[in-house]
Amino acid sequence: MLKNLCRFLFSALIYYGMFVAPGNPALAQAVTIPGTKVPIKVPDHVTMFKPVHVVFTGKNHIRNTGKSAWFDRNAFGFIRLGGKKEETILWKSLRAKDAYQIYCKFIGGNKKLKTADMWFFVSQKLFSMPDGTTVSFQAMDKAQALCQSKPELLKFIKQIREKMSVRKTEKEEGLWGLQTAKQVAETVKKLKTDSDKLLEIVGRKITPYETKFFLCYSELPLAETRKWISLLDNMYAQCCNWFGIKIGTNIWYGKCVIFIFKNKSGYTNFEVEAMKTPAMFVERSAGINHSSSSGIVRVAFYRQKDTALFAHILVHETGHGFIHRYKSPVHVPSWANEGIVEQLAAKVTGKTRKGIVPDSIFRARSKLKRDRSFEGFFEMGHIRGWQYGLAADFMQFLYNNSGRTNRFKKLVDAFKEGKKTPEALKAAYGITIEQAMTAYGRWIHVSGLTP
Ligand SMILES: [Zn+2]
Repeated sequence: MLKNLCRFLFSALIYYGMFVAPGNPALAQAVTIPGTKVPIKVPDHVTMFKPVHVVFTGKNHIRNTGKSAWFDRNAFGFIRLGGKKEETILWKSLRAKDAYQIYCKFIGGNKKLKTADMWFFVSQKLFSMPDGTTVSFQAMDKAQALCQSKPELLKFIKQIREKMSVRKTEKEEGLWGLQTAKQVAETVKKLKTDSDKLLEIVGRKITPYETKFFLCYSELPLAETRKWISLLDNMYAQCCNWFGIKIGTNIWYGKCVIFIFKNKSGYTNFEVEAMKTPAMFVERSAGINHSSSSGIVRVAFYRQKDTALFAHILVHETGHGFIHRYKSPVHVPSWANEGIVEQLAAKVTGKTRKGIVPDSIFRARSKLKRDRSFEGFFEMGHIRGWQYGLAADFMQFLYNNSGRTNRFKKLVDAFKEGKKTPEALKAAYGITIEQAMTAYGRWIHVSGLTP
């Protein structure tokens, strides 16, 4: 759901990019947001009468202070305190929080700029940043407050808010359903054409390596590619086992498309240029799963030097794709989603006793012993770093208590029907969140855990 909205906002953003004429802000053309009749008008380039004071944290956590006299859709000018030379700072290179503060400086006191359209535009820009959800909604608040004479935009903003807070149900989303062999063949043909086009954007041509469930475009030697795809075949079999799917059943839309690049630069280039992923997000990623609402799952990676880490990431990200394609497109909450794929990675790479997952579990348990708090674990749109260990551990605990009726599968089924965590736990395990936490606490010998 969140992903769909994200996709929509991205497309709206690209739309602006094409239609807003550069030059004098007064000449900016009103355009309508695709799929709506909402007209919106934003200047392309703004020069300030008086430079504004800006502060932001750059790479390596260095604090930058200075002045700015202009901004546009992609960047703003920056003259460092005590300096003379102007630099161009890309919005996407900032932390979302800083970008929001700087937008406030530019727009806040400027009557001409302070419009619902402008703030709405900013909210989308922020939303496209990986850490931008919260500030994006603050900008949307500002847009909403200025919407008196813009009933259409107001209605649209309300719709977005509703989408964000209401989890869709399986009934609304529908089931994925399985493709016939003929449909698979047709879809794969199309996926191949699309993959060629995507690779062409970054000047690459790769002959795919294909198995029953995977279509892999790899820059690695064939023998190595084979080894990695066979690991993913094992992952697939493990998932089928967990979710009670008959061996040999193809749950993908066509096949799952995997891209493996030799190095990070090739990967980054592909993600940014071909997949249109914000550079800031790509920068801190090691693999990205693109599970689309159309059903297509594409996952891109680069070969990490550390073989164990690479194997882990490969299974983790592709595992997200499997969860996406399981039953319905309804999103499984972050804690469960990450918990399942972390367990999957540990299990399939044979590192259940030593390695990345056991280490992160150890760290999470130590933290729980100290702080005794899950820190909003069950509610979060995206769990935080230390909680990955907790997610893996908590999932192991649920799996251990799955019983003969496969409560573990029932839990995921409940999510896929659109139930939230409390109802899903109740439906599958017959317990509340508090009871689950107490039982888990007993298992790890930590009492008094709070959500
Ligand atoms: Zn993940």
